[in-house]
Amino acid sequence: MNFAGCPFTSASRLYNVEGSAHRTECFGATAGRIEQNTRVKIGGNPIEGFRKLKSWVASANQTGTDFPLENLPYGVFRKRGKTEAPRVGVAIGNQILDIGRCGQNGLFEGEADFAASACQAPSLNFLMSLGAPNCHALRVRITELLSEGSAELRDGELIPMDAAEMFLPCEIGDYTDFYASIHHATRVGKLFRPANPLHVNYKQLPIAYHGRSSSIVVSGAPVRRPKGQRGPDSFGPTESLDYEIEVAAFIGTASKLGEPVPIEAASAHLFGLCLLNDWSARDLQKWESQPLGPFLGKNFATSISPWVVPMEALEPYRTEAVSHDPPPLPYLSSVSDQQTGAFDITLEVWLNGERLSRGNFREMYWTFAQMVTHHTSNGCNLRVGDLLASGTASGAAEESRGCMLEINSGRFLEDGDEVILLGYCERDGLPRIGFGECRGTVTG
Ligand code: CA
Repeated sequence: MNFAGCPFTSASRLYNVEGSAHRTECFGATAGRIEQNTRVKIGGNPIEGFRKLKSWVASANQTGTDFPLENLPYGVFRKRGKTEAPRVGVAIGNQILDIGRCGQNGLFEGEADFAASACQAPSLNFLMSLGAPNCHALRVRITELLSEGSAELRDGELIPMDAAEMFLPCEIGDYTDFYASIHHATRVGKLFRPANPLHVNYKQLPIAYHGRSSSIVVSGAPVRRPKGQRGPDSFGPTESLDYEIEVAAFIGTASKLGEPVPIEAASAHLFGLCLLNDWSARDLQKWESQPLGPFLGKNFATSISPWVVPMEALEPYRTEAVSHDPPPLPYLSSVSDQQTGAFDITLEVWLNGERLSRGNFREMYWTFAQMVTHHTSNGCNLRVGDLLASGTASGAAEESRGCMLEINSGRFLEDGDEVILLGYCERDGLPRIGFGECRGTVTG
Protein backbone atom coordinates (compact mmCIF):
# COMPACT_ATOMS: atom_id res chain seq x y z
CA MET A 1 0.00 0.00 0.00
CA ASN A 2 1.59 3.25 -1.06
CA PHE A 3 -0.62 6.00 0.30
CA ALA A 4 2.44 7.93 1.44
CA GLY A 5 3.65 8.17 -2.11
CA CYS A 6 0.31 9.37 -3.40
CA PRO A 7 0.53 13.15 -3.34
CA PHE A 8 -1.73 13.21 -6.41
CA THR A 9 0.82 14.41 -8.88
CA SER A 10 -1.80 15.20 -11.48
CA ALA A 11 -5.49 15.89 -11.53
CA SER A 12 -6.09 13.04 -13.92
CA ARG A 13 -4.35 10.62 -11.58
CA LEU A 14 -6.57 11.77 -8.77
CA TYR A 15 -9.96 12.09 -10.33
CA ASN A 16 -10.11 10.39 -13.70
CA VAL A 17 -8.93 6.95 -12.71
CA GLU A 18 -10.58 4.10 -14.53
CA GLY A 19 -9.69 1.13 -12.39
CA SER A 20 -10.26 0.54 -8.71
CA ALA A 21 -6.79 -0.25 -7.36
CA HIS A 22 -5.52 3.31 -7.26
CA ARG A 23 -8.73 4.59 -5.73
CA THR A 24 -8.55 1.95 -3.06
CA GLU A 25 -5.12 3.22 -2.09
CA CYS A 26 -6.13 6.86 -2.13
CA PHE A 27 -9.63 6.88 -0.74
CA GLY A 28 -9.26 3.94 1.59
CA ALA A 29 -12.39 2.24 2.76
CA THR A 30 -14.65 4.64 0.88
CA ALA A 31 -13.05 3.65 -2.39
CA GLY A 32 -14.77 0.34 -2.47
CA ARG A 33 -18.08 2.16 -2.64
CA ILE A 34 -17.15 4.03 -5.80
CA GLU A 35 -18.33 2.04 -8.76
CA GLN A 36 -15.64 0.58 -10.96
CA ASN A 37 -15.07 2.40 -14.23
CA THR A 38 -16.85 5.48 -12.96
CA ARG A 39 -15.30 8.73 -14.08
CA VAL A 40 -14.80 11.02 -11.14
CA LYS A 41 -14.44 14.69 -11.97
CA ILE A 42 -13.27 17.84 -10.31
CA GLY A 43 -14.30 21.48 -10.53
CA GLY A 44 -17.85 21.53 -9.25
CA ASN A 45 -19.07 18.59 -11.31
CA PRO A 46 -20.80 15.88 -9.34
CA ILE A 47 -18.77 12.82 -8.53
CA GLU A 48 -20.80 10.22 -10.35
CA GLY A 49 -21.41 6.83 -8.88
CA PHE A 50 -20.48 7.81 -5.33
CA ARG A 51 -22.55 6.19 -2.64
CA LYS A 52 -22.70 7.72 0.79
CA LEU A 53 -21.47 5.48 3.58
CA LYS A 54 -23.85 4.58 6.36
CA SER A 55 -22.89 4.08 9.99
CA TRP A 56 -24.73 2.23 12.73
CA VAL A 57 -24.08 5.36 14.84
CA ALA A 58 -27.37 7.11 13.98
CA SER A 59 -26.11 10.68 14.53
CA ALA A 60 -23.38 10.15 11.90
CA ASN A 61 -26.06 9.77 9.21
CA GLN A 62 -28.03 12.90 10.09
CA THR A 63 -28.17 15.71 7.55
CA GLY A 64 -25.89 18.55 8.56
CA THR A 65 -23.60 16.60 10.84
CA ASP A 66 -19.94 17.59 10.61
CA PHE A 67 -18.81 14.06 11.41
CA PRO A 68 -20.17 11.42 9.03
CA LEU A 69 -18.30 8.17 8.43
CA GLU A 70 -16.32 9.77 5.59
CA ASN A 71 -14.70 12.35 7.91
CA LEU A 72 -13.26 10.62 11.03
CA PRO A 73 -11.19 13.55 12.37
CA TYR A 74 -8.77 13.00 15.24
CA GLY A 75 -8.83 14.82 18.58
CA VAL A 76 -7.55 14.45 22.14
CA PHE A 77 -10.19 13.97 24.83
CA ARG A 78 -11.07 12.57 28.22
CA LYS A 79 -14.33 12.05 30.04
CA ARG A 80 -15.46 15.28 31.67
CA GLY A 81 -14.86 15.43 35.40
CA LYS A 82 -12.48 12.46 35.41
CA THR A 83 -8.79 12.46 36.20
CA GLU A 84 -7.96 9.86 33.56
CA ALA A 85 -5.22 10.63 31.04
CA PRO A 86 -6.26 12.42 27.84
CA ARG A 87 -5.97 10.25 24.72
CA VAL A 88 -6.65 10.27 20.99
CA GLY A 89 -10.17 9.64 19.73
CA VAL A 90 -12.08 9.92 16.45
CA ALA A 91 -15.31 11.90 16.03
CA ILE A 92 -18.31 10.03 14.64
CA GLY A 93 -21.68 11.81 14.71
CA ASN A 94 -22.11 13.10 18.25
CA GLN A 95 -19.79 10.42 19.69
CA ILE A 96 -16.06 9.87 20.17
CA LEU A 97 -14.44 6.53 19.45
CA ASP A 98 -11.82 5.66 22.09
CA ILE A 99 -9.22 4.16 19.76
CA GLY A 100 -6.76 3.09 22.43
CA ARG A 101 -9.44 1.22 24.30
CA CYS A 102 -10.54 -0.52 21.10
CA GLY A 103 -6.91 -1.53 20.62
CA GLN A 104 -6.69 -2.93 24.14
CA ASN A 105 -9.82 -4.94 23.36
CA GLY A 106 -8.11 -6.54 20.37
CA LEU A 107 -10.06 -4.85 17.57
CA PHE A 108 -7.00 -4.00 15.44
CA GLU A 109 -4.25 -5.99 13.76
CA GLY A 110 -0.88 -5.25 12.15
CA GLU A 111 -0.25 -1.66 11.04
CA ALA A 112 -3.64 -0.54 12.34
CA ASP A 113 -2.90 -2.04 15.77
CA PHE A 114 0.45 -0.27 15.88
CA ALA A 115 -1.29 3.02 15.06
CA ALA A 116 -4.04 2.35 17.63
CA SER A 117 -1.48 1.92 20.40
CA ALA A 118 -0.06 5.37 19.51
CA CYS A 119 -3.55 6.74 20.20
CA GLN A 120 -3.15 6.08 23.93
CA ALA A 121 -0.81 9.10 24.00
CA PRO A 122 -2.13 12.54 24.99
CA SER A 123 -1.30 14.07 21.60
CA LEU A 124 -1.44 13.19 17.91
CA ASN A 125 2.33 13.55 17.49
CA PHE A 126 2.99 9.86 18.07
CA LEU A 127 0.36 8.73 15.58
CA MET A 128 1.48 11.25 12.96
CA SER A 129 5.13 10.26 13.28
CA LEU A 130 4.28 6.65 12.35
CA GLY A 131 3.62 7.80 8.80
CA ALA A 132 0.78 7.59 6.32
CA PRO A 133 0.56 3.79 5.80
CA ASN A 134 -0.16 3.16 9.50
CA CYS A 135 -2.65 6.04 9.67
CA HIS A 136 -4.36 4.76 6.53
CA ALA A 137 -4.64 1.23 7.90
CA LEU A 138 -6.15 2.60 11.10
CA ARG A 139 -8.65 4.69 9.15
CA VAL A 140 -9.74 1.73 7.03
CA ARG A 141 -10.34 -0.43 10.10
CA ILE A 142 -12.18 2.33 12.01
CA THR A 143 -14.42 2.83 8.97
CA GLU A 144 -15.17 -0.88 9.05
CA LEU A 145 -15.92 -0.91 12.78
CA LEU A 146 -18.34 2.02 12.48
CA SER A 147 -20.06 0.93 9.25
CA GLU A 148 -23.63 -0.27 9.20
CA GLY A 149 -23.74 -3.99 9.87
CA SER A 150 -20.67 -4.11 12.12
CA ALA A 151 -21.30 -5.17 15.72
CA GLU A 152 -17.78 -5.52 17.05
CA LEU A 153 -17.64 -2.54 19.44
CA ARG A 154 -18.26 -3.10 23.14
CA ASP A 155 -19.54 -0.92 25.97
CA GLY A 156 -17.31 2.01 26.81
CA GLU A 157 -15.64 2.33 23.42
CA LEU A 158 -17.93 5.18 22.34
CA ILE A 159 -18.18 8.29 24.52
CA PRO A 160 -20.82 11.00 23.92
CA MET A 161 -19.15 14.27 22.90
CA ASP A 162 -21.13 16.18 25.50
CA ALA A 163 -19.61 13.98 28.20
CA ALA A 164 -16.04 14.68 27.08
CA GLU A 165 -13.60 17.55 27.40
CA MET A 166 -11.24 18.31 24.53
CA PHE A 167 -7.55 19.22 24.65
CA LEU A 168 -5.08 20.61 22.13
CA PRO A 169 -4.79 17.83 19.55
CA CYS A 170 -1.01 18.11 19.21
CA GLU A 171 2.05 19.20 21.04
CA ILE A 172 2.72 22.11 18.72
CA GLY A 173 6.37 22.82 18.04
CA ASP A 174 6.69 25.83 15.80
CA TYR A 175 3.76 27.91 14.60
CA THR A 176 3.94 29.97 11.42
CA ASP A 177 1.21 32.35 10.30
CA PHE A 178 0.96 33.15 6.59
CA TYR A 179 -0.87 35.93 4.76
CA ALA A 180 -2.17 33.90 1.83
CA SER A 181 -5.44 35.71 0.99
CA ILE A 182 -4.86 38.40 -1.60
CA HIS A 183 -8.30 39.82 -0.79
CA HIS A 184 -7.38 40.24 2.89
CA ALA A 185 -3.98 41.70 2.01
CA THR A 186 -5.55 44.14 -0.45
CA ARG A 187 -8.33 45.35 1.86
CA VAL A 188 -6.00 45.81 4.81
CA GLY A 189 -3.39 47.43 2.57
CA LYS A 190 -5.97 49.95 1.34
CA LEU A 191 -6.52 51.17 4.90
CA PHE A 192 -2.88 52.21 5.16
CA ARG A 193 -1.78 52.70 1.51
CA PRO A 194 -4.92 53.46 -0.54
CA ALA A 195 -2.98 54.12 -3.74
CA ASN A 196 -0.80 51.03 -3.54
CA PRO A 197 -2.38 48.47 -1.20
CA LEU A 198 -0.43 45.36 -2.21
CA HIS A 199 3.29 45.19 -1.48
CA VAL A 200 5.44 44.41 -4.54
CA ASN A 201 6.52 41.06 -3.06
CA TYR A 202 2.96 39.76 -2.49
CA LYS A 203 2.59 37.85 -5.76
CA GLN A 204 6.18 36.60 -5.61
CA LEU A 205 6.19 34.74 -2.29
CA PRO A 206 3.82 33.56 0.48
CA ILE A 207 4.35 36.21 3.20
CA ALA A 208 4.54 34.86 6.78
CA TYR A 209 5.91 35.48 10.26
CA HIS A 210 6.89 33.09 13.03
CA GLY A 211 4.14 33.01 15.65
CA ARG A 212 4.12 31.67 19.18
CA SER A 213 2.96 28.13 20.00
CA SER A 214 2.90 28.44 23.82
CA SER A 215 -0.29 30.52 23.77
CA ILE A 216 -2.25 28.36 21.31
CA VAL A 217 -5.38 27.19 23.13
CA VAL A 218 -8.15 24.77 22.25
CA SER A 219 -11.65 25.88 21.34
CA GLY A 220 -13.69 26.86 24.41
CA ALA A 221 -10.78 28.37 26.32
CA PRO A 222 -11.52 31.96 27.41
CA VAL A 223 -9.51 34.72 25.76
CA ARG A 224 -8.40 37.45 28.15
CA ARG A 225 -8.32 40.97 26.72
CA PRO A 226 -4.62 41.79 26.54
CA LYS A 227 -2.99 44.92 27.86
CA GLY A 228 -0.22 46.65 26.01
CA GLN A 229 1.05 49.81 24.39
CA ARG A 230 -1.84 51.18 22.37
CA GLY A 231 0.17 54.06 20.98
CA PRO A 232 2.65 56.65 22.25
CA ASP A 233 2.61 56.96 26.07
CA SER A 234 -0.47 54.75 26.38
CA PHE A 235 -0.56 51.39 28.18
CA GLY A 236 -3.78 49.52 29.01
CA PRO A 237 -6.37 47.01 27.78
CA THR A 238 -6.63 46.86 23.99
CA GLU A 239 -9.47 48.95 22.58
CA SER A 240 -9.60 47.17 19.24
CA LEU A 241 -9.67 43.41 19.83
CA ASP A 242 -10.35 41.45 16.63
CA TYR A 243 -10.62 37.87 15.37
CA GLU A 244 -9.17 36.40 12.17
CA ILE A 245 -10.66 33.25 10.63
CA GLU A 246 -7.94 30.98 9.29
CA VAL A 247 -7.37 27.36 8.31
CA ALA A 248 -4.24 25.69 9.71
CA ALA A 249 -2.29 22.60 8.63
CA PHE A 250 -0.49 20.19 10.94
CA ILE A 251 2.81 18.84 9.66
CA GLY A 252 2.72 15.03 9.87
CA THR A 253 5.99 14.26 8.09
CA ALA A 254 9.14 16.12 9.06
CA SER A 255 11.64 17.60 6.62
CA LYS A 256 15.39 17.64 7.18
CA LEU A 257 17.39 20.73 8.09
CA GLY A 258 19.11 22.00 4.98
CA GLU A 259 16.84 20.09 2.57
CA PRO A 260 14.11 22.08 0.81
CA VAL A 261 10.83 20.26 0.08
CA PRO A 262 10.03 20.31 -3.66
CA ILE A 263 6.55 21.57 -4.53
CA GLU A 264 5.48 18.16 -5.89
CA ALA A 265 6.32 16.51 -2.55
CA ALA A 266 4.91 19.22 -0.29
CA SER A 267 1.36 17.92 0.20
CA ALA A 268 2.63 14.62 1.54
CA HIS A 269 4.05 16.50 4.56
CA LEU A 270 0.56 17.58 5.69
CA PHE A 271 -1.37 15.43 8.14
CA GLY A 272 -4.63 17.35 8.41
CA LEU A 273 -6.38 20.69 8.79
CA CYS A 274 -8.18 22.54 11.57
CA LEU A 275 -9.75 25.99 12.08
CA LEU A 276 -7.75 28.74 13.74
CA ASN A 277 -8.66 32.12 15.26
CA ASP A 278 -5.71 34.49 15.27
CA TRP A 279 -6.99 36.91 17.94
CA SER A 280 -5.47 40.32 17.22
CA ALA A 281 -5.18 43.54 19.23
CA ARG A 282 -5.13 46.07 16.39
CA ASP A 283 -3.97 49.08 18.41
CA LEU A 284 -1.03 47.13 19.88
CA GLN A 285 -0.27 45.63 16.46
CA LYS A 286 -0.30 48.96 14.66
CA TRP A 287 2.03 50.64 17.15
CA GLU A 288 4.54 47.81 17.57
CA SER A 289 4.76 46.33 14.07
CA GLN A 290 7.09 48.89 12.49
CA PRO A 291 9.57 47.74 11.29
CA LEU A 292 9.58 44.06 12.31
CA GLY A 293 5.96 42.88 12.27
CA PRO A 294 3.48 41.24 14.67
CA PHE A 295 4.47 40.54 18.29
CA LEU A 296 2.37 41.22 21.43
CA GLY A 297 -0.66 42.24 19.39
CA LYS A 298 -0.96 38.61 18.30
CA ASN A 299 0.76 36.25 20.72
CA PHE A 300 -1.55 36.58 23.76
CA ALA A 301 -3.88 33.83 22.45
CA THR A 302 -4.59 31.79 19.32
CA SER A 303 -7.55 29.37 19.34
CA ILE A 304 -7.80 26.18 17.28
CA SER A 305 -10.64 23.71 16.76
CA PRO A 306 -10.11 20.41 18.59
CA TRP A 307 -10.66 18.09 15.60
CA VAL A 308 -7.98 17.58 12.96
CA VAL A 309 -9.54 16.53 9.64
CA PRO A 310 -7.05 14.21 7.93
CA MET A 311 -5.93 15.00 4.39
CA GLU A 312 -7.34 11.64 3.33
CA ALA A 313 -10.85 12.84 4.18
CA LEU A 314 -10.25 16.14 2.38
CA GLU A 315 -8.94 14.70 -0.90
CA PRO A 316 -12.38 14.67 -2.63
CA TYR A 317 -12.77 18.37 -1.81
CA ARG A 318 -9.53 19.46 -3.45
CA THR A 319 -10.04 21.92 -6.25
CA GLU A 320 -8.28 24.21 -8.68
CA ALA A 321 -6.04 26.86 -7.12
CA VAL A 322 -6.30 30.55 -7.99
CA SER A 323 -4.26 31.27 -11.10
CA HIS A 324 -1.30 33.58 -10.62
CA ASP A 325 -0.44 36.63 -12.69
CA PRO A 326 2.51 36.79 -12.99
CA PRO A 327 3.16 33.03 -12.67
CA PRO A 328 5.08 32.01 -9.55
CA LEU A 329 8.80 31.29 -9.74
CA PRO A 330 9.57 27.71 -10.86
CA TYR A 331 10.22 26.39 -7.33
CA LEU A 332 6.65 27.38 -6.34
CA SER A 333 5.09 26.23 -9.60
CA SER A 334 3.42 22.89 -10.19
CA VAL A 335 0.72 21.81 -12.63
CA SER A 336 -0.80 19.37 -10.16
CA ASP A 337 -0.83 21.94 -7.34
CA GLN A 338 -2.47 24.43 -9.69
CA GLN A 339 -5.12 21.85 -10.56
CA THR A 340 -5.85 20.41 -7.10
CA GLY A 341 -3.92 22.46 -4.50
CA ALA A 342 -6.89 24.41 -3.13
CA PHE A 343 -9.60 23.13 -0.78
CA ASP A 344 -13.31 23.79 -1.15
CA ILE A 345 -14.11 24.69 2.46
CA THR A 346 -16.95 27.07 3.37
CA LEU A 347 -15.90 29.28 6.29
CA GLU A 348 -18.23 31.21 8.59
CA VAL A 349 -17.74 33.58 11.53
CA TRP A 350 -20.49 33.94 14.12
CA LEU A 351 -20.56 36.62 16.86
CA ASN A 352 -23.08 36.14 19.69
CA GLY A 353 -25.35 34.12 17.39
CA GLU A 354 -25.14 36.52 14.41
CA ARG A 355 -23.30 35.46 11.26
CA LEU A 356 -20.70 38.10 10.39
CA SER A 357 -19.12 36.49 7.35
CA ARG A 358 -19.22 33.58 4.93
CA GLY A 359 -16.49 32.74 2.44
CA ASN A 360 -14.60 29.88 0.86
CA PHE A 361 -11.03 28.75 1.45
CA ARG A 362 -10.60 27.99 -2.26
CA GLU A 363 -10.06 31.71 -2.90
CA MET A 364 -6.65 31.80 -1.18
CA TYR A 365 -3.85 33.07 -3.44
CA TRP A 366 -1.22 30.64 -2.11
CA THR A 367 -1.77 26.91 -1.46
CA PHE A 368 -0.56 24.93 1.55
CA ALA A 369 1.89 23.11 -0.75
CA GLN A 370 3.39 26.44 -1.80
CA MET A 371 3.60 27.49 1.87
CA VAL A 372 5.48 24.28 2.78
CA THR A 373 7.85 24.62 -0.18
CA HIS A 374 8.55 28.29 0.45
CA HIS A 375 9.00 27.71 4.21
CA THR A 376 11.66 25.05 3.55
CA SER A 377 13.22 26.70 0.48
CA ASN A 378 16.10 28.10 2.54
CA GLY A 379 16.68 24.79 4.30
CA CYS A 380 14.49 25.55 7.34
CA ASN A 381 13.13 22.22 8.58
CA LEU A 382 9.56 21.38 9.58
CA ARG A 383 8.87 18.99 12.43
CA VAL A 384 5.98 16.69 13.25
CA GLY A 385 3.39 18.79 15.08
CA ASP A 386 4.38 22.13 13.54
CA LEU A 387 1.40 24.27 12.60
CA LEU A 388 1.14 26.39 9.45
CA ALA A 389 -1.80 28.82 9.42
CA SER A 390 -3.13 30.30 6.20
CA GLY A 391 -3.66 33.89 7.29
CA THR A 392 -7.08 35.53 7.36
CA ALA A 393 -9.17 33.60 4.84
CA SER A 394 -11.09 36.37 3.10
CA GLY A 395 -12.62 36.20 -0.35
CA ALA A 396 -13.52 38.74 -3.03
CA ALA A 397 -17.13 39.17 -1.87
CA GLU A 398 -17.89 41.73 0.84
CA GLU A 399 -19.69 39.06 2.89
CA SER A 400 -16.47 37.02 3.04
CA ARG A 401 -14.34 39.54 4.95
CA GLY A 402 -12.61 37.42 7.60
CA CYS A 403 -11.93 39.96 10.36
CA MET A 404 -13.38 43.18 11.81
CA LEU A 405 -10.46 45.27 10.56
CA GLU A 406 -11.55 44.42 7.00
CA ILE A 407 -15.26 44.93 7.71
CA ASN A 408 -14.11 48.40 8.81
CA SER A 409 -17.25 49.43 10.69
CA GLY A 410 -15.32 50.72 13.69
CA ARG A 411 -16.70 47.83 15.73
CA PHE A 412 -14.37 45.58 17.72
CA LEU A 413 -14.91 42.83 20.30
CA GLU A 414 -16.42 43.65 23.71
CA ASP A 415 -15.91 41.71 26.93
CA GLY A 416 -18.37 38.80 26.97
CA ASP A 417 -18.48 38.51 23.17
CA GLU A 418 -18.42 34.93 21.89
CA VAL A 419 -16.82 34.25 18.50
CA ILE A 420 -17.46 30.91 16.75
CA LEU A 421 -15.66 29.86 13.57
CA LEU A 422 -17.21 27.12 11.43
CA GLY A 423 -15.84 25.27 8.40
CA TYR A 424 -17.32 22.55 6.22
CA CYS A 425 -16.91 20.94 2.79
CA GLU A 426 -19.91 20.35 0.55
CA ARG A 427 -19.95 19.10 -3.01
CA ASP A 428 -22.65 17.59 -5.17
CA GLY A 429 -22.65 13.84 -4.82
CA LEU A 430 -20.43 13.86 -1.75
CA PRO A 431 -21.30 13.93 1.95
CA ARG A 432 -20.79 17.14 3.91
CA ILE A 433 -17.80 16.91 6.21
CA GLY A 434 -17.03 19.60 8.80
CA PHE A 435 -14.43 20.82 11.23
CA GLY A 436 -16.68 21.30 14.26
CA GLU A 437 -16.35 24.71 15.84
CA CYS A 438 -13.56 26.97 17.06
CA ARG A 439 -15.09 28.96 19.92
CA GLY A 440 -13.76 31.65 22.20
CA THR A 441 -15.27 34.16 24.64
CA VAL A 442 -13.58 37.44 25.48
CA THR A 443 -13.03 38.10 29.18
CA GLY A 444 -11.96 41.37 30.77
CA1 CA B 1 -3.24 36.03 11.03
